[in-house]
Amino acid sequence: MTAPTHRYLSLGAGVQSSTVLLLAVRGEIPTFDAAIFADTGWEPTPVYAHLRRLERLAARAGIPVVRVSAGNIRHDALDPAHRFASMPLFTLGPDGERGMARRQCTSEYKIKPIKAEVRRRLGYPHPARVPSGLVAQMAIGISLDEIGRARDADVAYMRNVFPLLDFGWRREDCLAYLTEHGLADTPRSACVGCPYRIDTEWARLRRDDPHGWADAVAFDAAIRHGSARANAAGQPLRGQFFLHRQRIPLDQVTLRTTPETRADVPGCGPWTCPHPVESDVAAATMGREVA
Ligand code: SF4
Repeated sequence: MTAPTHRYLSLGAGVQSSTVLLLAVRGEIPTFDAAIFADTGWEPTPVYAHLRRLERLAARAGIPVVRVSAGNIRHDALDPAHRFASMPLFTLGPDGERGMARRQCTSEYKIKPIKAEVRRRLGYPHPARVPSGLVAQMAIGISLDEIGRARDADVAYMRNVFPLLDFGWRREDCLAYLTEHGLADTPRSACVGCPYRIDTEWARLRRDDPHGWADAVAFDAAIRHGSARANAAGQPLRGQFFLHRQRIPLDQVTLRTTPETRADVPGCGPWTCPHPVESDVAAATMGREVA
């Protein structure tokens, strides 16, 4: 039996990481021991369908797609018994102050379970100390247009590599490659109710996935006065949470769509989540919910 090489892919199932997987499947880059997908439990239906397609493709090349999870982000946010890992929700204070909740969800639901899986595969699950010198290579799908997001791993047992940067590929190159190989409809990967969606994406969700849209509208209403846990603990939010940046209920927003340019809209990968809008970050966040 071949010894494990500890080469993994962080598979977000969006455009860039799907491209990296396909490159490995086609032998254009070295293979992986596994492609690891962190499931928040709240991806849109087309993302799960695409993931099943990737699983079949990868299996043909002997690459297992491993799903890991730290729970269901939607259920957990509405569960009074569960800690609320804050999503980047838009906030409106009692005096009209506009802010944004700090984002903890990517770390909690994506990065942590991937690191746990890597440790497990190395043979040193938390809290065991990983011996120095034992290092897993983690391929991350960052293209040239997102080069600012490429970072070294923050743990000694992982070394991040960026195959798309080595190729000098931009997101458009990834889309062209996916199209050439029959995956032109690779969806954008992000939670159904992610506040980082732009209007065009909200409109696409409403048009293509009515169930997902209704789900997001219901979640938006349910989260309005803070997390279930904080309210149950008698710590109500001083203000309101919203999924949409206009800070009005999602089903009342007039969505301003622009021509669909998928090349401009990255999804939320574990290490490539979009950054919040500067003006929103600059504004104060509110209450214990967002501390
Ligand atoms: S897609 Fe949005 S809500 Fe989901 S983990 Fe990423 S930032 Fe959080």
